[in-house]
Amino acid sequence: MGYQGDRFRERTSRELLCDAVALSAKIAVWEAQRVAVVAEVERRCTREDHGFASTKGWLSSVTVVSPGAAGRIVELGAGLAEHPAVAEAFDAGWIAFEHALVIVRFCTKPPKGMPAEALPGCVAALLAAADGPLARTDGVRTAIAKLEAIFESDDQPASEDTDRNELYVSKTLNGRVAIRGDVDAVTGEMLLTALSKYSAPHPAADGTRDPRTPSRRRADGLAQLLSMLLAFGELGVEGGERPHLSVHVHARDLGQDRREEYARRTRPADNTDTHPADPGDPADVADLSGLADVRGIAWSPWMGPLTVNTARLLGCDAQVTAIILDEHGAPLSVGRTHRTVTRAQRKALAARDGGCAFPGCGATAAWCEGHHIRHWADGGPTDLDNLVLLCGTHHRLLHTTDWEVTIGKTRHPVFTPPASVSPHRRRVPGHRHAAGQRFRCNGARERTHAP
Ligand SMILES: [Zn+2]
Ligand SMILES: [Zn+2]
Repeated sequence: MGYQGDRFRERTSRELLCDAVALSAKIAVWEAQRVAVVAEVERRCTREDHGFASTKGWLSSVTVVSPGAAGRIVELGAGLAEHPAVAEAFDAGWIAFEHALVIVRFCTKPPKGMPAEALPGCVAALLAAADGPLARTDGVRTAIAKLEAIFESDDQPASEDTDRNELYVSKTLNGRVAIRGDVDAVTGEMLLTALSKYSAPHPAADGTRDPRTPSRRRADGLAQLLSMLLAFGELGVEGGERPHLSVHVHARDLGQDRREEYARRTRPADNTDTHPADPGDPADVADLSGLADVRGIAWSPWMGPLTVNTARLLGCDAQVTAIILDEHGAPLSVGRTHRTVTRAQRKALAARDGGCAFPGCGATAAWCEGHHIRHWADGGPTDLDNLVLLCGTHHRLLHTTDWEVTIGKTRHPVFTPPASVSPHRRRVPGHRHAAGQRFRCNGARERTHAP
């Protein structure tokens, strides 16, 4: 039996193009059949039949399918059984495997605020975004991010959930180090932004292409990045230029605090009249064909969609330039948006707050971000009385929960816990001045010593 490629050697170019397309279509049909048959195995076969604890374990043991891929096949099969519209599109080869899976995951865990009757409309909008050869995963994820924005989901999307982050750095038997990890979109954006600078191909002087593979170039870039970081390890203390991030967001969206917006929507109405004209009324969202015009999400160059809430958080600190777009998507003046915490201000903040100012934290100043108490997008100034030093975890906490911070009479930060932590919302001084108060990152009080 010879190499398969021999079969095609005699074909004309035109025939080759047709062959590749026809084979791809056939593979899509076979893939749909495999998903269906594995779903039936999952439904019917037990350990007695195949000898494994799970269908996933069985499939990855008797075929060359990896455990991860086997798990996705089982997951998609189960999802398609629940959502026939997605199954129809997938079986017909209109949408790709990974897009079908993303849509099924959305259906299985829809945004909290989404009424059940809105699901068919959402599925139709997502299928439209995933339809055909030109559909891209970023496009489908953007459509999902827009739906999540419409339904005001209070959940953090999986892409921005830092609790799922993990990084394994392990020594291998031959003395090397293997790296494996899974990080949120913002961390990913920083990593890709930093790496892209150092992993670009370097053609030789005579124009010869850089022979290194992309993975080799990324590894070289990582080495260069680390050596620079270690050489200038104290940079963070002075607030040197960190890798620069860009976030694109509509001006109207950035100036709107998601929590205020959420509170406004969930507040009981003054009268019982319904307002069908309210664009946020879920009952009015059955027609989602105009998804392209929906705003309420931001965009990052490498990772794609981000929630506006995260864009506001990123925009707090100097290391991000928010490129604000007007109603028509044209960039507004960047000057207005470029609010840098100067080196001198950062030093003064480190001196005043002594690291993360959150009660009980005190993380080292080099790892902290400057939080604007009143966001600059809402007109807050970039000066000491409007800035607090916070570590990444507590910065997120301030942006995503009802924790509040102000500058007290002595010009030091004072924190107000949410009612879930302190029923009377008794104010707590910042880390420097808090006596024995500690709060976990979910906001619960860990222990309290009488002052
Ligand atoms: Zn902030
Ligand atoms: Zn902290």
